Amino acid sequence: MLKHEIVKRIKHKNFKQNVSSLNSCILMIKSNTKILFWVIHLIFLSVSFSYANVYSEKERLNSSFVESTPESTIEQAHNLPKWIKEEKIRAGYLYDYNDTKYASLVRDHGFNSLIVKGWRFYRKEDYNKTFERYRRWGKAGRENKLHIFIAYNWQPEKEALSIYRPVVFSDGTPGVTVCPRDKEFWQKHLIRTGKDIAKLSLAPSLWIDGIFLDNEWYRSEDLPTRKRSYGEHTCFCDNCFSSFLFTKGYTGTTLPEVVAEKRERWLDGKKLRDDYFGFLVKEVESLAEAYRQEVHKINPSLILGMYPMPYNRVLKSIARGLGTEESPMLLFATDSYYKGGHKRIPKEPSALYKRSGIDAFYVGGYLLRKYKSDKLFVELPIAAEKCSGYWIYRLSLLWGKPREKEPLAGGSQLEYWQALSRANKNIDKLNDK
Ligand SMILES: [Zn+2]
Repeated sequence: MLKHEIVKRIKHKNFKQNVSSLNSCILMIKSNTKILFWVIHLIFLSVSFSYANVYSEKERLNSSFVESTPESTIEQAHNLPKWIKEEKIRAGYLYDYNDTKYASLVRDHGFNSLIVKGWRFYRKEDYNKTFERYRRWGKAGRENKLHIFIAYNWQPEKEALSIYRPVVFSDGTPGVTVCPRDKEFWQKHLIRTGKDIAKLSLAPSLWIDGIFLDNEWYRSEDLPTRKRSYGEHTCFCDNCFSSFLFTKGYTGTTLPEVVAEKRERWLDGKKLRDDYFGFLVKEVESLAEAYRQEVHKINPSLILGMYPMPYNRVLKSIARGLGTEESPMLLFATDSYYKGGHKRIPKEPSALYKRSGIDAFYVGGYLLRKYKSDKLFVELPIAAEKCSGYWIYRLSLLWGKPREKEPLAGGSQLEYWQALSRANKNIDKLNDK
């Protein structure tokens, strides 16, 4: 039986009812004989003990969602896990290889979540090592009451890229990542890894609450802007182009011979541009839906999240596929990432995204190299009030030797910890209101 099903059956409410009915029994029998009293008392103790044991084991998962009795099904359908509603996400980003001894430091300063990034999956031994590290963080999460979001890259590692179909720009050149319609890529990389994370999340000894799908194009930093993301200029690969034309009635024998760099102009000439992008959008969306379904078949409670903002058609399609009304996705957003703070976080972001067909809750992002410690102290409680919380890139700058390539914006490591701790205390106060 799946863990969530077991959890649903163990209701705190039932436990309370059992206790109260047993107590009334005891009171009645007290007036009869002492022997009977002790018999009943022993039964009471053993029932309480077994409930308490199972309850404490599953307590976190049980309390992760609003009461799931039939009467509240509709309410639950539109809600985030209870802990996010009550505490707001206060997450720090770090790497799988970071020492888990820092988990207690993070918790002691008022954080409740960690985003743990691993990116090596290509070689089998790397895959296993990455998952062993995820497991270690899941355990540290449970021990320190930190919700863990497992992060991995959309983009395959350099060595793995040749297995898949590269994205092709409108000028006919390939990009540093894959064609977003490559089904083999979805299956072998995204779904396989997502399912393994879902399986790991079922281990009762770990706290793994969700996935953070990192959609950044790494290794494109030195390329022109147009070659650093999907957009109106992607994808013009053979497969995308011919698959679209087949939907328009072309066949193997009537397919026009148009080289990649001329395809955009050819589509314009035939007034097929909008249809073409409409086709790509729908295809990516259904692949993302399949991803969600596969992962949720294993653990329906796993929260699916993505980074960055859905600022192009492919990202929007992914976001639409990952979230549903019953189970909204988490947007690890970047509006406030570099500058502008809470002022750049949209008002009522969930409603805003809903209008684009995206069921999402919004978490405001902040870079430590862009925000001074005293600024974060002011910013984070406002962000938490405006949306579902905040996330910080990257927390591991706050221990060990300062990194010359990624200096903190302003303040010592200690000053940052103090500011973050005070900000989290202020979020507690706001939540208590
Ligand atoms: Zn393509």
